Amino acid sequence: MESSYSESDRPRISPHIWGIVELQPGERIEVSLDVTESYSSLNIPIPVVVERGEHDGPTLFITAAIHGDEINGTGAIRSLIADHNWKLKRGTLILVPVVNILGFDRHTRYLPDRRDLNRCFPGNPEGSLAARMARIIYDEIVRRSDYGIDLHTAAIRRTNFPCIRAEMNNPRTARLAELFGSQIILNQEGPAGSFRREASAGGCSTILLEAGEVWKVEPAIVEFAVRGILSVLAGLDMIEGEVQKPHSRVTINQSRWMRASRGGFLRFHCSPGEFVREGDPLATNTSITGVENNVITAPFDAVILGMTTLPCIAPGDPICHLGRLEKQHKSIDWIQKRMSVDTLHGRMVEHLSTNVRVVNPGNSSQSTDNVDSSTEREA
Ligand SMILES: [Zn+2]
Repeated sequence: MESSYSESDRPRISPHIWGIVELQPGERIEVSLDVTESYSSLNIPIPVVVERGEHDGPTLFITAAIHGDEINGTGAIRSLIADHNWKLKRGTLILVPVVNILGFDRHTRYLPDRRDLNRCFPGNPEGSLAARMARIIYDEIVRRSDYGIDLHTAAIRRTNFPCIRAEMNNPRTARLAELFGSQIILNQEGPAGSFRREASAGGCSTILLEAGEVWKVEPAIVEFAVRGILSVLAGLDMIEGEVQKPHSRVTINQSRWMRASRGGFLRFHCSPGEFVREGDPLATNTSITGVENNVITAPFDAVILGMTTLPCIAPGDPICHLGRLEKQHKSIDWIQKRMSVDTLHGRMVEHLSTNVRVVNPGNSSQSTDNVDSSTEREA
């Protein structure tokens, strides 16, 4: 089932030898991987759990909290480690619950040098703090692996409906994305210097999960992440189990952030994960006392990939991230009916919408906000 690794120019490291420790078939170990040093010249390690199956097979890494405040993935990896209902029969699994340990300890996305670690890969051993950490993580994790899953959430003050981001033009990466079983896939290569883009460019096909908010471990999101990871492991024949086959899958090729043209306070009319038609009201922008400014409407048929959780907005602030539905997609009614068969999908829509107060547009004015659009930047 596993296609043989073909890129000869990428030096590989054995996934079974970590320092002086050699992992035996069927064994699980916890490794401390030094990623930098403190001001007092002590090593700063990140914990890595490595499990080797009884038989040879592919190596898959799963990473979380490259952005130190995005800890839904940390919760998912902790659940996987504690879950004894699966057994690795083939290949090697590398689990990294927290990559950006310095940001994680400070509840922040960034490193103390103010850089975004997820724009510094594959890194440089002579570079900045971020570049040096990136290089160690790239060498120690990516160069041991054939595949990767990198877990993220929306940036601060936003939420994302669970969605796999992957370069779907690469058949190996596309297969990984499909094995995850997500109903929504955003076809994107990722920004230059991002972990998944540089790992994929180095021959380790990597996909990214965007789900939920910072500073939270959201139960439905963790359930979705764990289900998807186990589905990938089953699809790669690394564990016994079923591959998730979504009742409906929408691959989005184009997305757009709707931004406010005026300052104000929002009343939302849509929830994360909901489908909207061209012209549907997304939110009403009002003054602080409720006098209506304008209604922001959908410029095309779309799925709500993410939205702000903060109703106060200034001109240019993001309101809603829309994934554009194209002609080849089935009708919205058909998609919604099929997606609702998966009860977890419905629970995720319900849970995420509790963090934004969603109300009917009522007798709102029909004036339409002039919105700016911009290409989405990866959270
Ligand atoms: Zn992120």
